[in-house]
Amino acid sequence: MLDADLAVIGAGLAGCSLIARLRQLNWSGTIALVEAGRGPGGRTATRRRRDRPQWRLDHGAPGFHLDDPLPEGLKALLAPLRENGCLRQAGGTVVTLAMDGSASRAEGAADVEWLEGKPFMASICEALLAMGEGATTQHFGRRIRTLQRDGNHWCLSEDGSDWQLRASRLVLSGSLLAHPRSLAMLDWRQVPLREAVPAGQDPDLDHALDALAQSRAAVRWNLMLDLPLNGDQLPRQIWLTPEAQEHWRVERLVLHPQADNRTGLVMHGLDSGEPITPQTQPVLLKQEEARLRELLPQLLQPWPDLQGACKAAESLGVMRWGASRPLDHPLPQSMQWCDASALGFCGDYVEGPGFGRAEGALRSAVNLAQILVTQAA
Ligand SMILES: Cc1cc2nc3c(=O)[nH]c(=O)nc-3n(C[C@H](O)[C@H](O)[C@H](O)COP(=O)(O)OP(=O)(O)OC[C@H]3O[C@@H](n4cnc5c(N)ncnc54)[C@H](O)[C@@H]3O)c2cc1C
Repeated sequence: MLDADLAVIGAGLAGCSLIARLRQLNWSGTIALVEAGRGPGGRTATRRRRDRPQWRLDHGAPGFHLDDPLPEGLKALLAPLRENGCLRQAGGTVVTLAMDGSASRAEGAADVEWLEGKPFMASICEALLAMGEGATTQHFGRRIRTLQRDGNHWCLSEDGSDWQLRASRLVLSGSLLAHPRSLAMLDWRQVPLREAVPAGQDPDLDHALDALAQSRAAVRWNLMLDLPLNGDQLPRQIWLTPEAQEHWRVERLVLHPQADNRTGLVMHGLDSGEPITPQTQPVLLKQEEARLRELLPQLLQPWPDLQGACKAAESLGVMRWGASRPLDHPLPQSMQWCDASALGFCGDYVEGPGFGRAEGALRSAVNLAQILVTQAA
């Protein structure tokens, strides 16, 4: 069995930032990072294609913004990323699209300073992991299903394989293993973290699980297209006004110029509220793909070239983000660490500036790193 001082589940912004920040603060324990996906990024992951090695599409968050004042720890974490150029001010314009089909530079999403990963969003997590090198092992393609508390250790295992990891401390950077939404979505009978530590054993953990159970998350259906068009002069993001979002059930369109004179387009579709289960999901994916494709020419009227290119677009399918953003009931910062269970939480579901956004994931990781380092001192 593999062994580590700290196991971190999730290689999104929060998990990767936690590891990088711990190393910046000279935390010297061994760390094992475990991630279900094939690479780092989580909701800032970048889609690749087997048939086109150069192709990259940021199919989750295409960028993010930060609100001042930033904590010193976060500035220190991001400084090397800014210096080596993998975190930069986003190129291209951000525009809004109204119900009457008019496009303009306007307030709101279009009016903040967007940051993005270079050359693509997953580059940020890759660079954070490079900063976290040292006694860190990375385990991709491992979806943890079972958590067990064995004396003073955590035991992590998957379904259907012998792979196991034992660690003195555990951090969950995604909330799936702690949230009842896993039950309907994945056909699980009990929340894995609750199964590992029964109610009454750790009051801090009981409070944290109660708080998490109340939070709801937004579902997104993102249609991905490959267009035969050079997108260099096109806006980077087209945000629909709130009224238009409600009417068309689309939040925004994101354009990614590609190296081969083509353009990737991601259409961020909003959810209809129909129950999603392993049985309904394949049907819902098809329905959303058809709905979004049909709507696209109408939304692209202000950009005739783009509208024309859509006719020859190749669809790369729809990505369903089951929890694209937490919407409410943030986990209080005071509950980020449960001492009796040696268990921590970080991610965009933690309370504070940036809750529900990339910034919240970064801030929560910096905060948790400080807690762990202070404990070790
Ligand atoms: C479509 C979309 C658009 C967005 N747009 C914006 C935006 O414009 N601005 C902004 O600020 N934010 C945006 N966000 C939100 C932003 O992406 C997130 O806030 C941020 O990336 C969250 O990072 P995280 O590390 O907290 O979580 P995640 O990135 O979700 O990382 C958690 C990781 O844990 C892994 N994991 C979970 N359970 C297990 C398990 N059991 N075993 C192994 N691994 C597991 C997951 O695979 C995942 O990689 C957007 C998100 C989406 C989906």
